[in-house]
Amino acid sequence: MGIHGGSDELYWSDNVDGQYTSKGGYNFMRMLLSYDAPSSSTSAPLRPAFWKKFWATQALPRCKETSWRAISGYLPLKERLFRPRVDVDPGCSFCATHWETEDHFFLQCPATRQIWFASPGAIRADSFSCFRDFWAVVALQGDGDFLALVQATVYAIWEARNQVNFQQRPLMVHSVLSRVESLLAEVSVRDNGGEATVAAPARWKRPAQGTIKCNFDASFKEGDVSRLGMIARDHEGAIMATACSFQFHTISSLLAEPMSMRWTMQLAIDLGFRRICVETDCVYLFRSWHATGEGRSYLSSILRDCRLLLSGFDHFTVSFVRRTGNVVADFLAKNVKTYANQVWVEEVPAPVLPLVISDIT
Ligand SMILES: [Zn+2]
Repeated sequence: MGIHGGSDELYWSDNVDGQYTSKGGYNFMRMLLSYDAPSSSTSAPLRPAFWKKFWATQALPRCKETSWRAISGYLPLKERLFRPRVDVDPGCSFCATHWETEDHFFLQCPATRQIWFASPGAIRADSFSCFRDFWAVVALQGDGDFLALVQATVYAIWEARNQVNFQQRPLMVHSVLSRVESLLAEVSVRDNGGEATVAAPARWKRPAQGTIKCNFDASFKEGDVSRLGMIARDHEGAIMATACSFQFHTISSLLAEPMSMRWTMQLAIDLGFRRICVETDCVYLFRSWHATGEGRSYLSSILRDCRLLLSGFDHFTVSFVRRTGNVVADFLAKNVKTYANQVWVEEVPAPVLPLVISDIT
C-alpha cells in the first residue's frame, strides 16, 4: 500500500527500498491497529481529527460535500440502489464488470485507477481495498492541498459517472483531469505565506521595469501530445518573443502545464532574458511550485528540472493569473498547429495580434 503526495515531501510506501519513513510507518500501523477490521469497507471509522482536516481544505464546498457523501455511503451507487430495487443493473458505470460499490468504483475500477494515476499525485488507488482506509491515509500522508486535490478528483469522477449514465457521454480520462484542474482553479489562491487570501488578477498586467513577463499555457488532447504556447512582454507590453511547441508523452493536462513552464524557462535562457516572471493560469502548478519540500511524483521531477534552470536567471518569479489574463498563451497553445518548434522574436503571428492589443488597452 502506498501513496505519492504530489505537491510536497509527504510520500510513504511500505516498500522498504528507501522510501519508507519510520514516522509514516508508525502512524500507519497505529491507524491500522485502531480499526477492528481494516480490510472491511464498512467498519473503518474516521476520527474527528480526520474530519477537521477534511473540512478545512481549500476545495470547493461541492467537492467536499460529494466526497463526504462518498465516504459516508450516501451516494446512489448502483449496488446500493440494487439492494431494495431488483430492476437496477448493479454493474459499474465505467467498466460494467464489477458491482458498483464505493471500493470498486472509486479505487479498483480500471478506469478510475487510470484517473488517479494520471493525476499529479500519481496515486495508486488500487493498492487500497477499502475506500475509508484510502481517505485515512490521504489525510495522514498528505497536506491540505493534497487532500483538496483528492476531494476535487472524487467530485470529477462522480460527475463523469453521471454523464456516462444520464447523458450518454463516454468517459475520457483527460476530460476528468481537466475538470479537476478547473475545480481547483475556481478556488482563490492563497499567497505564498498561506495566510492571506488574494484574488488572482483577471487581466494581464505589465511586469516591473527591467523584468520580462513570460505567459505560458498548454493544451492537451487525447493521444498524449500537448501543445505549448508562450509570449514574452516587457514592462511596456512590447513583445519580446512568442513561441509554440509540442510535447509527446504527456499523461494529462495537469502535467502539460509544468512541462510548458520548463520549456518556457529554457526558451527564456536561450533568448537571453535574465530577469523574468513566468505566469501560469494553472493553480495547481502555482501552488506546487511554492510548496516546500520535494515530492516523488512525475510533477515533482519536472519541477526539479525547473529549479535546476534557475541558475540561468538573475531574477525569477512565478505568478498566477486567471484564464482571462492568459489568453494569448492559451491561443498559441490551442491554435498554432505545428510539429516544429517555432519562435518569433519581437513578433507575433498575425491572428494573435488582436489579443495582444486587448491585453494592453
Ligand atoms: Zn468499474
